[in-house]
Amino acid sequence: MYDAETPAQTKRPFATFERLESQVRSYSRSFPAIFDRAEGSWQYDSEGKGYIDFLTGCSVLNYGHNHPALKQALMDYIDRNGVVHSLDMHSRAKGEFLEALEGKILKPRGMTYRAQFTGPTGANAVEAAMKLARKVTGRTNIIAFTNGFHGVTLGALSATGNSHHRGGAHTPLNGVTRMPYCGYFGDNVDTAAQLDQMLSDPSGGVDNPAAIIVEPVQGEGGLNVASAEWMRKIEKIAHKHGALFIVDDIQAGCGRTGTFFSFENMGVKPDIITMAKSLSGMGLPMALVLVKPELDQWSPGEHNGTFRGNCHAFVTAKAAIDTFWSDDRFAAEVQKTGERLRKRLRQIALANRGVVKGIKGRGMMCGLDVGSSEVSDPVVDAAFKRGLIIETSGAHDQILKVLAPLNITDADLDAGLDILADCVAEVAERQALGSAA
Ligand SMILES: *Cc1c(COP(=O)(O)O)cnc(C)c1O
Repeated sequence: MYDAETPAQTKRPFATFERLESQVRSYSRSFPAIFDRAEGSWQYDSEGKGYIDFLTGCSVLNYGHNHPALKQALMDYIDRNGVVHSLDMHSRAKGEFLEALEGKILKPRGMTYRAQFTGPTGANAVEAAMKLARKVTGRTNIIAFTNGFHGVTLGALSATGNSHHRGGAHTPLNGVTRMPYCGYFGDNVDTAAQLDQMLSDPSGGVDNPAAIIVEPVQGEGGLNVASAEWMRKIEKIAHKHGALFIVDDIQAGCGRTGTFFSFENMGVKPDIITMAKSLSGMGLPMALVLVKPELDQWSPGEHNGTFRGNCHAFVTAKAAIDTFWSDDRFAAEVQKTGERLRKRLRQIALANRGVVKGIKGRGMMCGLDVGSSEVSDPVVDAAFKRGLIIETSGAHDQILKVLAPLNITDADLDAGLDILADCVAEVAERQALGSAA
């Protein structure tokens, strides 16, 4: 068993990881600690030091770490020897999740979808969505947007914009046409109109698309926000040109923006929706593709995967829906907390006008644009030393991204933002001194 207490490891606490774990590890480099316990908005390292978690597994833990209601549901299920794995056979756990999804998420929102369970990662869901769109339309091309992030398996990666990740493919990434996201060229350029014009031009050079895939808020891409009007236009353009409209709600969904789906108030009805990250509510791997019934044209087993029946995830996902989404109270709370977060970020921006270029994002998916990693990296390091876990996003890692638990207490949120404010001010001051010298 791994023993953090032995003298050799006390001297070099990460020796085991450095010797045995692949170089590909990444978050561990930003947050050099050995995490052991976690509760609510806090993670504790093996020496007992607490950290406020403004990363939450990149929005996997929207309800915080080890939420008591979710944990109890899982412990009860394990205790009665509930089936853990059953391929994609019927299980009671799956049935109960589906009923909660229908009764408390889909029906109240007037939505009718079939649920396709894929392998348990977001990329698995995106792969399935892209394959299904191609199968249904008989077309190959998929339109994805600048700064989009859809996962790193080859199909999903072809839709992802980031060159660092794309470079890791070492093979051509085919079948996707990149188009500018909402606001990519500034507020005065209508990128939806451009897309429509290019698709409408027989010499526009863009093959007829099977689908257009979009994130309503770009998580990894830098908290860029699509307007409701732009989303409606993109949906219309997709349908006008015979393509499906896919919304990737893997990071922005499950309440992150203040509603269960991030596009709920936008007046769009996606043909396909991909979900993962916070869907299980407890950090258990689980992914879901919601498909309009008429598009559910798979033949049995045509797309599969061994781990489509993670019953523990079904149990906690149902418990999460029951606990947080049985009525509108939680959403209202999240919206309030999101306003508190935004107000405080605005204050930090005002106090540090030299380095903070603006505020990005929506709801509880907000952050500070500090221009470059020359500012964001030292802030992340300084914050970590003071007990705050916060990460960056964007093409230049220029966005300090706050992904706190949605149910974080005001006190914990304020404490984390106090650390963030101090660290931004500290780095701003250091940079001002540096440039004056
Ligand atoms: C994280 C993410 C994915 C990929 O999910 P994985 O579980 O890492 O494969 C896809 N789309 C979006 C929007 C994401 O944020």
